[in-house]
Amino acid sequence: MIAPPPLRDDCFALPVGVDWLSVERALELLRNAMHPQVATMHVDLGAARGRILAKDIMAPSNSPPHANSAIDGYGYLGVQSENREVIRLSLMQGRAAAGDPFETDVPDGCAVKVLTGAILPEGVDTVVLQEDVSVGVHEIAFRGPLKAGKNTRSAGEDIQIGQVLFRKGRKIRTSDLAVLASVGISQLKVYWPLRVGILSTGDELIEPGELARVGQIYDANRPMLIGQMVELGYDIVDLGRAEDDAETLRSILNSAAERCDALITTGGASAGDEDHMSALLRDSGSLEMWRIAVKPGRPMAMGLWNGLPVFGLPGNPVAAMVCALVFTQPALRTLAGGTWEMPQSYDVTAAFAKSKKPGRREYLRARIRNGRAEVFSSEGSGRVTGLSWAEGLVELAEPALDIKIGDKVRYIPFSEF
Ligand code: AMP
Ligand code: MG
Repeated sequence: MIAPPPLRDDCFALPVGVDWLSVERALELLRNAMHPQVATMHVDLGAARGRILAKDIMAPSNSPPHANSAIDGYGYLGVQSENREVIRLSLMQGRAAAGDPFETDVPDGCAVKVLTGAILPEGVDTVVLQEDVSVGVHEIAFRGPLKAGKNTRSAGEDIQIGQVLFRKGRKIRTSDLAVLASVGISQLKVYWPLRVGILSTGDELIEPGELARVGQIYDANRPMLIGQMVELGYDIVDLGRAEDDAETLRSILNSAAERCDALITTGGASAGDEDHMSALLRDSGSLEMWRIAVKPGRPMAMGLWNGLPVFGLPGNPVAAMVCALVFTQPALRTLAGGTWEMPQSYDVTAAFAKSKKPGRREYLRARIRNGRAEVFSSEGSGRVTGLSWAEGLVELAEPALDIKIGDKVRYIPFSEF
């Protein structure tokens, strides 16, 4: 197993003089900084769903491998029915069935019974539907005209030998398994699942199940981010919670660098007294505070800790989730060997009105009802219930906007991130 080359030490470095980043620019920087951080392995087809291909896949055979019948009926040479009102053909004994070919030639003037999936016998290129045929003992008759080639599938009409089926970086979907199986592929070269560490930071945080004293709140980010990463097919390293204490954090980061390929932390990523995550990464020499013109969002602390890429997200759950969706997910996908992809979005009608100031891109918790985008009643970024209510985000571009009910807005379902 050959380890991939590490990320460059300065991979998160901002260009000189850059203080604020547009979302566009931040994504472009991430795209350039990231490359796969996982080795390759082989898996059986049955275990390949959700895995990321480590090499292009060519079709080793045609699909279908032979011309065959698309229906149950009678096969014959098609020119005989092209311009005729009534067609009569002698019926040969026997039949062609899937897995049980008819080995005799079918001469002009003759037909033979063929079933769905049967290889077309020599001399057959057309099949007439069984229900449209009058069948005698030695003869069949049916009404024409019927075009030559009707009701058949030609060899390789779906997949041709040598064709590229999937490119390296594709995440294998359920339907891809059928495509791969149909040309007999049983093993795939894929990447090892990315090991993603998840850590919450903050003195105020306690675990659900514990009794909250005054000033304490439950850690909502970790279960959310773990769930998000599990859904993406990553291996999770749950690093628990860390107090706002530099030494505790340092030892957790050291251990994470041994056990993870990427780390997501929440909280402590700003420049305040208790923002130890950013302080530590700054000491390690590789911290970059990314101030992105996005709402919700606060600076993201990006850095490398002993070569481990760290995505320091804001502590606020809404901001954490939005930043994870918009910035961390495409980055992780690339680290995992996948292709860099932006989510598909849709122009939909707004069921809400809003005026927006210029300067930042905004993401609103949204969902589609009756074909229109509704947004959560409050934009308060502490309202986690809005995340649960929502099924996606409405994305509002940077300029000032005065959205009226009925205007078009951009909607991105969560599943597209
Ligand atoms: P911070 O980024 O650490 O300044 O935190 C911003 C806000 O998010 C504060 O109100 C924190 O209490 C809150 N917060 C931070 N981490 C979490 C968490 N894991 N779960 C819920 N709220 C959090
Ligand atoms: Mg904090």
